[in-house]
Amino acid sequence: MLAFVDLHAQRRRIGDRMTSAVLEVLEGASYIMGPQVKAFEQQLAEFGGARHAISCANGTDAIVLVLRALKIGPGDAVFCPSFTFSATAEVVALVGATPVFVDVDPATYTMEPSHLQAAIEEMAKEARLVPRAIIAVDLFGQPADYPALEAVALAHGLVLISDSAQGFGCQLNDRQPLAHAIATTTSFFPAKPLGCYGDGGAVLTNDEALADRIDSLRVHGKATKRDLGERTFDHDPKYLNMRVGTNSRLDTMQAAVLIEKLRIFADEIDARNRIAARYSELLAPHVDRVPKVISGGVSTWAQYTIEHQERDRLSAHLKAHGIPTAVYYPVPLHQQPAYAEYPVGPRGMANTEAAALKVLSLPMHPYLLEADQDAVIGAVASFDGAGAEKRA
Ligand SMILES: *Cc1c(COP(=O)(O)O)cnc(C)c1O
Repeated sequence: MLAFVDLHAQRRRIGDRMTSAVLEVLEGASYIMGPQVKAFEQQLAEFGGARHAISCANGTDAIVLVLRALKIGPGDAVFCPSFTFSATAEVVALVGATPVFVDVDPATYTMEPSHLQAAIEEMAKEARLVPRAIIAVDLFGQPADYPALEAVALAHGLVLISDSAQGFGCQLNDRQPLAHAIATTTSFFPAKPLGCYGDGGAVLTNDEALADRIDSLRVHGKATKRDLGERTFDHDPKYLNMRVGTNSRLDTMQAAVLIEKLRIFADEIDARNRIAARYSELLAPHVDRVPKVISGGVSTWAQYTIEHQERDRLSAHLKAHGIPTAVYYPVPLHQQPAYAEYPVGPRGMANTEAAALKVLSLPMHPYLLEADQDAVIGAVASFDGAGAEKRA
Protein backbone atom coordinates (compact mmCIF):
# COMPACT_ATOMS: atom_id res chain seq x y z
CA MET A 1 0.00 0.00 0.00
CA LEU A 2 1.29 3.44 -0.92
CA ALA A 3 1.47 5.89 2.02
CA PHE A 4 -1.34 8.43 2.41
CA VAL A 5 1.06 10.73 4.30
CA ASP A 6 4.69 9.54 4.34
CA LEU A 7 6.34 10.79 7.53
CA HIS A 8 9.29 8.43 7.03
CA ALA A 9 10.40 10.28 3.89
CA GLN A 10 10.67 13.52 5.84
CA ARG A 11 12.53 11.73 8.65
CA ARG A 12 15.07 10.56 6.11
CA ARG A 13 15.58 14.13 4.89
CA ILE A 14 16.11 15.76 8.29
CA GLY A 15 16.99 12.69 10.37
CA ASP A 16 20.45 13.63 11.68
CA ARG A 17 19.66 17.21 12.57
CA MET A 18 16.46 16.08 14.21
CA THR A 19 18.24 13.46 16.29
CA SER A 20 20.73 16.03 17.60
CA ALA A 21 17.96 18.52 18.32
CA VAL A 22 16.03 15.95 20.34
CA LEU A 23 19.17 14.75 22.15
CA GLU A 24 19.92 18.33 23.11
CA VAL A 25 16.55 18.54 24.85
CA LEU A 26 17.21 15.24 26.66
CA GLU A 27 20.57 16.50 27.88
CA GLY A 28 19.22 19.96 28.76
CA ALA A 29 16.55 18.38 31.00
CA SER A 30 14.33 21.46 30.64
CA TYR A 31 11.36 19.51 29.39
CA ILE A 32 8.65 22.07 30.02
CA MET A 33 9.00 25.65 28.75
CA GLY A 34 12.65 25.07 27.92
CA PRO A 35 14.61 27.52 25.74
CA GLN A 36 13.51 25.81 22.51
CA VAL A 37 9.90 26.84 23.19
CA LYS A 38 10.69 30.57 23.16
CA ALA A 39 13.03 30.15 20.17
CA PHE A 40 10.38 28.26 18.20
CA GLU A 41 7.72 30.84 19.04
CA GLN A 42 9.93 33.62 17.69
CA GLN A 43 10.60 31.73 14.47
CA LEU A 44 6.96 30.79 14.07
CA ALA A 45 5.88 34.42 14.54
CA GLU A 46 8.37 35.48 11.90
CA PHE A 47 7.21 32.82 9.45
CA GLY A 48 3.57 33.73 10.06
CA GLY A 49 4.11 37.49 9.79
CA ALA A 50 2.80 37.92 13.34
CA ARG A 51 3.98 40.05 16.25
CA HIS A 52 3.25 37.21 18.68
CA ALA A 53 3.12 33.43 18.52
CA ILE A 54 2.05 31.53 21.63
CA SER A 55 2.52 27.77 21.52
CA CYS A 56 0.16 25.41 23.33
CA ALA A 57 -0.75 21.75 23.75
CA ASN A 58 -2.76 21.19 20.54
CA GLY A 59 -4.76 22.91 17.82
CA THR A 60 -8.04 22.48 19.69
CA ASP A 61 -6.70 24.26 22.77
CA ALA A 62 -5.34 27.01 20.53
CA ILE A 63 -8.92 27.99 19.56
CA VAL A 64 -10.21 27.53 23.12
CA LEU A 65 -7.49 29.88 24.38
CA VAL A 66 -8.46 32.55 21.85
CA LEU A 67 -12.17 32.27 22.68
CA ARG A 68 -11.48 32.40 26.42
CA ALA A 69 -9.08 35.32 26.06
CA LEU A 70 -11.82 37.16 24.13
CA LYS A 71 -14.26 36.29 26.97
CA ILE A 72 -16.62 34.50 24.62
CA GLY A 73 -18.99 32.22 26.51
CA PRO A 74 -22.63 31.53 27.41
CA GLY A 75 -25.11 33.65 25.47
CA ASP A 76 -22.69 34.24 22.59
CA ALA A 77 -23.08 32.99 19.02
CA VAL A 78 -19.97 31.92 17.11
CA PHE A 79 -20.37 31.30 13.38
CA CYS A 80 -18.42 28.43 11.87
CA PRO A 81 -18.60 25.98 9.00
CA SER A 82 -20.17 22.55 9.40
CA PHE A 83 -17.89 21.04 6.75
CA THR A 84 -14.76 20.88 8.93
CA PHE A 85 -13.05 18.77 11.59
CA SER A 86 -15.17 18.61 14.74
CA ALA A 87 -12.72 20.67 16.82
CA THR A 88 -13.86 23.89 15.10
CA ALA A 89 -17.33 23.70 16.66
CA GLU A 90 -16.34 21.67 19.72
CA VAL A 91 -14.32 24.57 21.13
CA VAL A 92 -17.29 26.92 20.85
CA ALA A 93 -19.51 24.53 22.81
CA LEU A 94 -16.67 23.89 25.31
CA VAL A 95 -16.52 27.55 26.33
CA GLY A 96 -20.32 27.56 26.73
CA ALA A 97 -21.07 29.58 23.60
CA THR A 98 -23.32 28.42 20.73
CA PRO A 99 -21.90 27.35 17.38
CA VAL A 100 -24.05 28.52 14.47
CA PHE A 101 -23.33 26.54 11.33
CA VAL A 102 -22.82 28.29 8.00
CA ASP A 103 -22.65 26.64 4.57
CA VAL A 104 -19.48 26.58 2.48
CA ASP A 105 -18.72 27.63 -1.07
CA PRO A 106 -19.25 24.51 -3.21
CA ALA A 107 -15.97 24.97 -5.10
CA THR A 108 -13.52 25.86 -2.30
CA TYR A 109 -15.23 24.32 0.78
CA THR A 110 -14.57 27.48 2.78
CA MET A 111 -17.22 29.58 4.52
CA GLU A 112 -19.55 31.32 2.09
CA PRO A 113 -19.66 35.06 2.97
CA SER A 114 -23.26 35.79 1.91
CA HIS A 115 -24.51 32.78 3.88
CA LEU A 116 -22.52 34.06 6.85
CA GLN A 117 -24.12 37.48 6.53
CA ALA A 118 -27.61 35.92 6.42
CA ALA A 119 -26.85 33.78 9.50
CA ILE A 120 -25.62 36.79 11.51
CA GLU A 121 -28.66 38.85 10.55
CA GLU A 122 -31.00 36.02 11.50
CA MET A 123 -29.33 35.61 14.90
CA ALA A 124 -29.42 39.35 15.54
CA LYS A 125 -33.15 39.40 14.70
CA GLU A 126 -33.93 36.50 17.04
CA ALA A 127 -32.03 38.38 19.79
CA ARG A 128 -31.61 35.17 21.78
CA LEU A 129 -27.83 35.09 21.41
CA VAL A 130 -25.25 37.82 20.92
CA PRO A 131 -23.28 37.38 17.66
CA ARG A 132 -19.63 37.65 18.75
CA ALA A 133 -17.18 35.82 16.52
CA ILE A 134 -16.60 34.01 13.25
CA ILE A 135 -14.25 31.05 12.90
CA ALA A 136 -13.11 30.67 9.29
CA VAL A 137 -11.43 27.38 8.42
CA ASP A 138 -8.69 27.01 5.81
CA LEU A 139 -10.02 23.62 4.85
CA PHE A 140 -7.64 21.20 3.15
CA GLY A 141 -4.99 23.95 3.30
CA GLN A 142 -6.60 26.60 1.20
CA PRO A 143 -7.25 30.15 2.41
CA ALA A 144 -10.84 31.10 3.10
CA ASP A 145 -12.22 34.21 1.37
CA TYR A 146 -10.74 36.49 4.04
CA PRO A 147 -11.39 39.91 2.47
CA ALA A 148 -15.10 39.11 2.13
CA LEU A 149 -15.36 37.45 5.56
CA GLU A 150 -13.53 40.36 7.18
CA ALA A 151 -15.94 42.83 5.56
CA VAL A 152 -18.92 40.92 7.02
CA ALA A 153 -17.21 40.76 10.43
CA LEU A 154 -16.52 44.51 10.43
CA ALA A 155 -20.02 45.40 9.26
CA HIS A 156 -21.55 43.48 12.19
CA GLY A 157 -18.92 44.17 14.85
CA LEU A 158 -17.74 40.55 15.14
CA VAL A 159 -14.18 39.29 15.53
CA LEU A 160 -12.76 36.99 12.87
CA ILE A 161 -10.61 34.03 13.94
CA SER A 162 -8.85 31.81 11.42
CA ASP A 163 -8.63 28.10 12.22
CA SER A 164 -5.59 27.35 10.09
CA ALA A 165 -4.84 23.91 11.53
CA GLN A 166 -4.74 22.60 7.97
CA GLY A 167 -3.76 25.80 6.22
CA PHE A 168 -0.95 27.33 8.24
CA GLY A 169 1.34 28.92 5.63
CA CYS A 170 -1.44 29.49 3.08
CA GLN A 171 -1.80 32.88 1.43
CA LEU A 172 -4.36 34.96 -0.41
CA ASN A 173 -3.07 37.77 -2.63
CA ASP A 174 0.33 37.47 -0.89
CA ARG A 175 -1.19 37.95 2.54
CA GLN A 176 -1.61 35.44 5.34
CA PRO A 177 -5.00 34.95 7.03
CA LEU A 178 -3.75 36.94 10.03
CA ALA A 179 -3.80 40.09 7.89
CA HIS A 180 -7.60 39.85 8.17
CA ALA A 181 -8.17 38.04 11.47
CA ILE A 182 -7.60 38.90 15.13
CA ALA A 183 -5.85 35.55 15.60
CA THR A 184 -4.82 32.52 13.59
CA THR A 185 -4.64 29.13 15.25
CA THR A 186 -2.82 26.05 14.06
CA SER A 187 -2.18 22.42 14.98
CA PHE A 188 1.06 20.48 14.95
CA PHE A 189 -0.64 17.07 14.90
CA PRO A 190 1.82 14.85 12.97
CA ALA A 191 -0.22 14.58 9.76
CA LYS A 192 -0.86 18.33 9.43
CA PRO A 193 1.36 20.19 6.95
CA LEU A 194 3.52 21.48 9.83
CA GLY A 195 3.40 18.60 12.30
CA CYS A 196 5.52 17.59 15.28
CA TYR A 197 6.10 14.16 16.84
CA GLY A 198 3.06 14.27 19.07
CA ASP A 199 0.43 16.88 19.88
CA GLY A 200 1.06 20.60 19.67
CA GLY A 201 -0.56 23.86 18.61
CA ALA A 202 -0.14 27.62 18.49
CA VAL A 203 -1.93 30.95 18.31
CA LEU A 204 -0.58 33.81 16.22
CA THR A 205 -1.78 37.36 16.75
CA ASN A 206 -0.71 40.98 16.35
CA ASP A 207 -2.76 42.01 19.37
CA GLU A 208 -0.42 42.36 22.32
CA ALA A 209 -3.06 42.34 25.06
CA LEU A 210 -4.66 39.23 23.57
CA ALA A 211 -1.28 37.49 23.30
CA ASP A 212 -0.61 38.30 26.93
CA ARG A 213 -3.91 36.84 28.15
CA ILE A 214 -3.35 33.68 26.10
CA ASP A 215 0.17 33.34 27.53
CA SER A 216 -1.37 33.54 30.99
CA LEU A 217 -4.31 31.20 30.29
CA ARG A 218 -2.08 28.41 28.98
CA VAL A 219 -0.20 28.31 32.31
CA HIS A 220 -3.01 28.29 34.88
CA GLY A 221 -3.71 32.02 34.60
CA LYS A 222 -0.25 33.02 35.81
CA ALA A 223 0.52 36.73 36.26
CA THR A 224 2.25 38.21 33.23
CA LYS A 225 4.50 41.30 33.26
CA ARG A 226 1.54 43.23 31.92
CA ASP A 227 -0.66 41.98 34.78
CA LEU A 228 1.91 43.01 37.37
CA GLY A 229 2.57 46.47 35.93
CA GLU A 230 4.29 48.55 38.59
CA ARG A 231 3.49 46.02 41.28
CA THR A 232 6.18 43.64 42.56
CA PHE A 233 5.67 40.00 43.44
CA ASP A 234 8.52 38.37 45.32
CA HIS A 235 7.84 34.86 44.08
CA ASP A 236 7.54 33.12 40.73
CA PRO A 237 4.61 34.87 38.93
CA LYS A 238 3.40 31.36 38.07
CA TYR A 239 2.13 31.30 41.64
CA LEU A 240 0.06 34.43 41.31
CA ASN A 241 -3.14 33.43 39.48
CA MET A 242 -4.85 36.33 37.76
CA ARG A 243 -7.54 34.33 35.96
CA VAL A 244 -8.79 30.75 35.79
CA GLY A 245 -6.46 29.22 33.24
CA THR A 246 -5.52 25.72 32.21
CA ASN A 247 -2.47 23.60 31.45
CA SER A 248 -1.80 23.87 27.74
CA ARG A 249 1.92 24.06 27.06
CA LEU A 250 3.95 22.80 24.13
CA ASP A 251 6.62 20.32 25.28
CA THR A 252 10.21 21.47 24.83
CA MET A 253 10.86 18.29 22.84
CA GLN A 254 8.12 19.16 20.35
CA ALA A 255 9.41 22.72 20.05
CA ALA A 256 12.86 21.34 19.16
CA VAL A 257 11.27 19.06 16.54
CA LEU A 258 9.29 21.98 15.11
CA ILE A 259 12.36 24.22 14.84
CA GLU A 260 13.87 21.64 12.48
CA LYS A 261 10.65 21.16 10.55
CA LEU A 262 10.01 24.89 10.14
CA ARG A 263 13.36 25.22 8.32
CA ILE A 264 12.08 23.10 5.43
CA PHE A 265 8.41 24.04 5.62
CA ALA A 266 8.35 26.64 2.81
CA ASP A 267 10.14 24.19 0.55
CA GLU A 268 7.62 21.49 1.45
CA ILE A 269 4.69 23.81 0.64
CA ASP A 270 6.27 24.39 -2.80
CA ALA A 271 6.61 20.64 -3.32
CA ARG A 272 2.97 20.07 -2.36
CA ASN A 273 1.92 22.74 -4.86
CA ARG A 274 3.94 21.14 -7.66
CA ILE A 275 2.40 17.74 -6.93
CA ALA A 276 -1.12 19.18 -6.70
CA ALA A 277 -0.70 20.96 -10.05
CA ARG A 278 0.44 17.74 -11.72
CA TYR A 279 -2.36 15.73 -10.10
CA SER A 280 -4.96 18.24 -11.27
CA GLU A 281 -3.71 18.33 -14.83
CA LEU A 282 -3.72 14.54 -15.17
CA LEU A 283 -6.76 13.69 -13.04
CA ALA A 284 -9.16 16.28 -14.47
CA PRO A 285 -10.48 14.03 -17.27
CA HIS A 286 -11.24 11.18 -14.84
CA VAL A 287 -13.10 12.77 -11.93
CA ASP A 288 -16.12 15.06 -11.52
CA ARG A 289 -13.94 17.78 -10.08
CA VAL A 290 -10.34 18.43 -9.19
CA PRO A 291 -9.80 20.90 -6.31
CA LYS A 292 -10.30 24.59 -6.98
CA VAL A 293 -8.23 27.13 -5.08
CA ILE A 294 -9.66 30.62 -4.60
CA SER A 295 -8.31 33.12 -7.14
CA GLY A 296 -5.05 34.63 -5.78
CA GLY A 297 -4.74 31.85 -3.20
CA VAL A 298 -1.85 29.50 -2.38
CA SER A 299 -2.88 26.31 -0.59
CA THR A 300 -0.69 24.23 1.70
CA TRP A 301 -2.50 21.12 0.40
CA ALA A 302 -3.12 19.45 3.73
CA GLN A 303 -5.41 17.30 1.59
CA TYR A 304 -5.79 16.85 -2.13
CA THR A 305 -9.53 16.30 -2.46
CA ILE A 306 -11.43 15.41 -5.61
CA GLU A 307 -15.16 14.91 -6.14
CA HIS A 308 -16.67 11.81 -7.72
CA GLN A 309 -20.33 10.76 -8.01
CA GLU A 310 -19.34 7.18 -7.20
CA ARG A 311 -16.99 8.12 -4.42
CA ASP A 312 -17.34 4.96 -2.34
CA ARG A 313 -16.87 2.63 -5.30
CA LEU A 314 -13.88 4.65 -6.51
CA SER A 315 -12.37 4.43 -3.04
CA ALA A 316 -12.81 0.63 -2.98
CA HIS A 317 -11.30 0.39 -6.48
CA LEU A 318 -8.27 2.44 -5.40
CA LYS A 319 -7.84 0.35 -2.26
CA ALA A 320 -7.78 -2.80 -4.41
CA HIS A 321 -4.96 -1.14 -6.39
CA GLY A 322 -2.93 -0.33 -3.27
CA ILE A 323 -3.94 3.33 -3.10
CA PRO A 324 -5.23 4.54 0.27
CA THR A 325 -7.84 7.31 0.34
CA ALA A 326 -9.81 9.12 3.04
CA VAL A 327 -13.16 10.87 3.26
CA TYR A 328 -12.89 14.29 4.91
CA TYR A 329 -15.59 14.58 6.10
CA PRO A 330 -18.32 11.95 5.72
CA VAL A 331 -20.77 13.51 8.22
CA PRO A 332 -21.03 17.31 8.44
CA LEU A 333 -21.07 18.66 11.99
CA HIS A 334 -24.71 19.86 11.86
CA GLN A 335 -25.68 16.19 11.26
CA GLN A 336 -23.50 14.78 14.05
CA PRO A 337 -25.28 13.51 17.17
CA ALA A 338 -23.22 15.88 19.32
CA TYR A 339 -24.03 19.01 17.31
CA ALA A 340 -27.42 18.35 15.73
CA GLU A 341 -29.22 20.64 18.23
CA TYR A 342 -27.21 23.74 17.34
CA PRO A 343 -28.59 26.33 14.91
CA VAL A 344 -27.95 26.33 11.18
CA GLY A 345 -27.93 29.51 9.06
CA PRO A 346 -31.18 30.40 7.22
CA ARG A 347 -29.76 29.50 3.81
CA GLY A 348 -29.37 25.85 4.82
CA MET A 349 -26.50 23.45 4.20
CA ALA A 350 -26.98 22.26 0.60
CA ASN A 351 -23.33 22.72 -0.45
CA THR A 352 -22.00 21.05 2.69
CA GLU A 353 -24.33 18.08 2.37
CA ALA A 354 -23.55 17.63 -1.33
CA ALA A 355 -19.79 17.79 -0.73
CA ALA A 356 -19.90 15.21 2.08
CA LEU A 357 -21.32 12.67 -0.40
CA LYS A 358 -18.72 13.21 -3.14
CA VAL A 359 -15.36 14.19 -1.63
CA LEU A 360 -12.40 11.84 -1.65
CA SER A 361 -8.88 12.74 -0.53
CA LEU A 362 -5.94 11.14 -2.33
CA PRO A 363 -2.39 10.52 -1.04
CA MET A 364 -0.61 13.88 -0.61
CA HIS A 365 2.70 14.80 1.01
CA PRO A 366 5.79 16.70 -0.15
CA TYR A 367 7.78 13.53 -0.87
CA LEU A 368 5.28 11.80 -3.16
CA LEU A 369 7.40 10.55 -6.05
CA GLU A 370 6.31 10.99 -9.64
CA ALA A 371 6.04 7.22 -10.03
CA ASP A 372 3.67 7.08 -7.05
CA GLN A 373 1.65 10.03 -8.37
CA ASP A 374 1.36 8.11 -11.63
CA ALA A 375 0.19 5.01 -9.75
CA VAL A 376 -2.58 7.08 -8.14
CA ILE A 377 -3.55 8.74 -11.42
CA GLY A 378 -3.45 5.42 -13.29
CA ALA A 379 -5.66 3.73 -10.73
CA VAL A 380 -8.21 6.58 -10.85
CA ALA A 381 -8.15 6.48 -14.67
CA SER A 382 -8.71 2.72 -14.69
CA PHE A 383 -11.91 3.20 -12.66
CA ASP A 384 -13.54 4.94 -15.65
CA GLY A 385 -13.56 1.64 -17.55
CA ALA A 386 -14.25 -0.57 -14.55
CA GLY A 387 -17.02 1.75 -13.36
CA ALA A 388 -18.70 1.89 -16.79
CA GLU A 389 -18.74 -1.92 -17.04
CA LYS A 390 -20.40 -2.35 -13.65
CA ARG A 391 -22.93 0.39 -14.38
CA ALA A 392 -23.88 -1.21 -17.71
C1 LIG B 1 -6.71 19.14 13.29
C2 LIG B 1 -7.67 20.26 13.36
C3 LIG B 1 -7.95 20.93 14.57
C4 LIG B 1 -7.48 20.44 15.91
O1 LIG B 1 -6.13 20.24 16.05
P1 LIG B 1 -5.58 19.21 17.17
O2 LIG B 1 -4.13 19.56 17.26
O3 LIG B 1 -5.82 17.84 16.67
O4 LIG B 1 -6.29 19.50 18.44
C5 LIG B 1 -8.80 22.03 14.54
N1 LIG B 1 -9.35 22.45 13.39
C6 LIG B 1 -9.13 21.82 12.21
C7 LIG B 1 -9.76 22.36 10.97
C8 LIG B 1 -8.29 20.71 12.15
O5 LIG B 1 -8.08 20.11 10.98
